[in-house]
Amino acid sequence: MTAHTRRSRIAILGTGGTIAGTRTGTDGDAYRPASLGIDEIIAAVPELDHIADITSEQVLQIDSANIEDHEMLALARRTSQLLAADDIDAVVITHGTDALEETAYLLHLGLKTTKPVVFVGSMRPADALSADGPRNLVHAVTVAASAQAIGMGVLAVMNDEVHTARDVTKAHSINVATLRSPHGPLGHIVNGAPVFYRAPARSHTYLTPFDIDTLDQLPKVDIVFAHANMTTAVIDALVSTGTEAIIHAGMGNGSVAARMIPTLTAARTAGVHIVRCSRIPNGSIIRNAAVPDDTHDWLVADDQNPQKARLLTALALTRTQQTRELQDIFWTY
Ligand code: ASP
Repeated sequence: MTAHTRRSRIAILGTGGTIAGTRTGTDGDAYRPASLGIDEIIAAVPELDHIADITSEQVLQIDSANIEDHEMLALARRTSQLLAADDIDAVVITHGTDALEETAYLLHLGLKTTKPVVFVGSMRPADALSADGPRNLVHAVTVAASAQAIGMGVLAVMNDEVHTARDVTKAHSINVATLRSPHGPLGHIVNGAPVFYRAPARSHTYLTPFDIDTLDQLPKVDIVFAHANMTTAVIDALVSTGTEAIIHAGMGNGSVAARMIPTLTAARTAGVHIVRCSRIPNGSIIRNAAVPDDTHDWLVADDQNPQKARLLTALALTRTQQTRELQDIFWTY
C-alpha cells in the first residue's frame, strides 16, 4: 500500500475524566470520573477498528479538575515523543472536559508537529443512558485520521463539532453541547466525515518559539477574579508567594477598580507582570482605552479567557521578561 491508501496509525492516550467515568447508582446522575482504563473505553467502541490502526496508553487517570502543570507538561512530552515516531500518524487524547481547554491549549502552543492531535471528552459517563463518549471518540479518531486535520494545530472534538484548542472553552456545566468557541467551530462531523470551513489564523504548534519538550514546570502565574467590593488582599498574598504574573479577570473590557491600582502598581514595581483580561466570555481587551496600560506597564490578553491567558503568559515568560515582547506574543498566538 502507498502512504496515501494505508490506514492511519493513531495512538489514543487516556487521562481520565467523565469519558472514563461510571455511574455509582441506578438513579440520578451520580458517577465517578476516571474509573475505566483507556483499553476498556476503546474495547467498547468496535467502530474504531474500521477507521484506523489503534494503539493506546494510559498517561494519567484523573478528574481533570485536579490536573497540574507538571502533568500537562508530561502529557505534552509523551505526545511529542509519539508524534516524532514514523509509525504514528496522529494522537487522540481522552480528557476530562473541565480542564480540556487548558491542556489542549498548552499543547497547541508548544508541540512541534504538523500531525493531527485531537482532544475528546464526554459529559456523560460511559455507562449512562445515551452516553456521548463513544460517538465523540469515533469522531475524534475520524478527524485525527483525516488529511484535512494536518497542520491545523491541536483540535477538540465533541458533539459533532471540531474546535481549535486556541478558542475552545467549556461553556455549559452539564449539557453535551458544552464546548464552544467564541468565533465558532472550525467544522463539523457530517455523515461520519469531518467538514472544515475555517482554519486557525493565529500561529501554533510548529510555528511557535515555545519548547515544551524541555519543560517540566511552568513559571508561576495566577488568576484573580474581579467583582464588586473586591479587596486587594489576594494580590498581596500572590505576590508574597512568588507569582511571576497576575491575570486580572476584570469586568467588561478588563476594567480595574480604582481601589486596586496602588496594589497592582506595587506588584508591577516588584517585578510581577499584570495581564488584563475579562471575566466575560466574548470580545477582546482594548489596550490603553479606559485603562492607561502604557503608563502602568501592564499587558492585555487580546481575546483570551483568564485560564488561557495564564498558560500563554507562563510560556511567554520562558522566552522574555520585556513587556513589549510579551504583548507581541498576545497579538501573535
Ligand atoms: N470532572 C470531569 C473532568 O473534567 C468532567 C468531565 O470530564 O466532563 O474530569
